[in-house]
Amino acid sequence: MHTVTIIGAGLGGLTLARVLHVHQIPVVVYEAEASPTARAQGGMLDIHDYNGQLAIEAAGLMEEFRGLVLEGRQAMRILGPDGAVLVEKADDGTGGRPEAQRADLRQMLLDALPAGTVRWRRRVSGARALGGGRHEVTFADGSTVTADLLVGADGAWSRVRPLLSEATPVYAGTSFVETYLFDADTRHPAAARAVGGGSLMAPAPDRAIHAHRERGDTLHTYVELTKPQDWFDAIDFTDAAVATARIAQEFDGWAPELTALITDGDTPPVLRPHYTLPAGHRWDRVPGVTLVGDAAHLQAPNGEGANLAMYDGAELGKALAAHPDDIEAALTEYEQAMFTRNSQADAEAARHLEEMFGDIPESLLALIPGHQQDQ
Ligand SMILES: Cc1cc2nc3c(=O)[nH]c(=O)nc-3n(C[C@H](O)[C@H](O)[C@H](O)COP(=O)(O)OP(=O)(O)OC[C@H]3O[C@@H](n4cnc5c(N)ncnc54)[C@H](O)[C@@H]3O)c2cc1C
Repeated sequence: MHTVTIIGAGLGGLTLARVLHVHQIPVVVYEAEASPTARAQGGMLDIHDYNGQLAIEAAGLMEEFRGLVLEGRQAMRILGPDGAVLVEKADDGTGGRPEAQRADLRQMLLDALPAGTVRWRRRVSGARALGGGRHEVTFADGSTVTADLLVGADGAWSRVRPLLSEATPVYAGTSFVETYLFDADTRHPAAARAVGGGSLMAPAPDRAIHAHRERGDTLHTYVELTKPQDWFDAIDFTDAAVATARIAQEFDGWAPELTALITDGDTPPVLRPHYTLPAGHRWDRVPGVTLVGDAAHLQAPNGEGANLAMYDGAELGKALAAHPDDIEAALTEYEQAMFTRNSQADAEAARHLEEMFGDIPESLLALIPGHQQDQ
């Protein structure tokens, strides 16, 4: 088979690259970032036994993955705004959602590829069809490469997507504001006790506090607010104290150990607006090109995006390995299954959340992001 050209070395693109490598299919990945450490990779991801872990298995990396799992982090509690513990689930080591740091997962995949597979500092600016399923990819520096099979794994703002679809992401109506508390057991003990050994969720209508105990005793918080974008635009996030005070104001009257996750942040608060592609986004088959992960089906965070990106990568890799002489058959098989997954993604995410939280009152379940009452 010809070399597969992947744009984007996120979890989706790298899982695809690794599965192709396992099947001895040549692959090259072009990545905009300058190096694996050029940008902080975000927090912990729970990797699910029904999608993310299946992808890791297809990549032949289960043993390496188990070595990255942070013990005890599947513990989960739901608190009320007054700090009362409403639900508590311990991590007994049997859960299907072990947690690992995103940067570690990415490095695991990078380490499992031949040196030179990923070409760093290669930002794609666009791509055009040359006919016969071939594409010319143009980089920001003006250079070009020709791809026999092109895969856009370049995330929300994909430069490959326009070859397949006119859809562009729109604001999803919610945003996260991210903070970190370091050495929390000693420096922020009340907040550390509230979060416990794993993750905390304190949901209320239109707002929630999510926090994770990451490696060591770092607490990573995502404050979730349902607000229009211009509400956030009016806050000066370059002034950390002002922004922190404005976000904390939305949680007036909440327990101090919860608001401390915002007000005691050791890093400036970072705004992360959520964007989404249309639900069930799909396209007609275009020879020689496809998409995986957020490029194909960006959704507001619901705990599935990274898992689905890895699963897409693995499924596409397996389809190409199964049809070495017929790229179009492989792409058709991959896309049809992926479109079906996408059309059911919200219902699936809600079903898995219910499985996890099934024994809690519906009124509380309805507040949990990703859960929809009618499903
Ligand atoms: C705040 C937040 C929290 C989240 N939490 C979770 C969670 O707990 N669990 C979960 O499963 N999902 C979570 N997600 C969703 C998850 O992060 C994404 O769904 C996942 O990263 C998608 O992977 P990907 O490989 O498709 O894209 P990305 O991870 O976005 O990777 C795309 C790669 O392409 C590169 N790239 C982009 N443009 C170009 C270009 N023009 N040229 C070359 N390279 C380019 C980027 O630098 C990047 O390396 C969260 C998302 C957010 C925003």
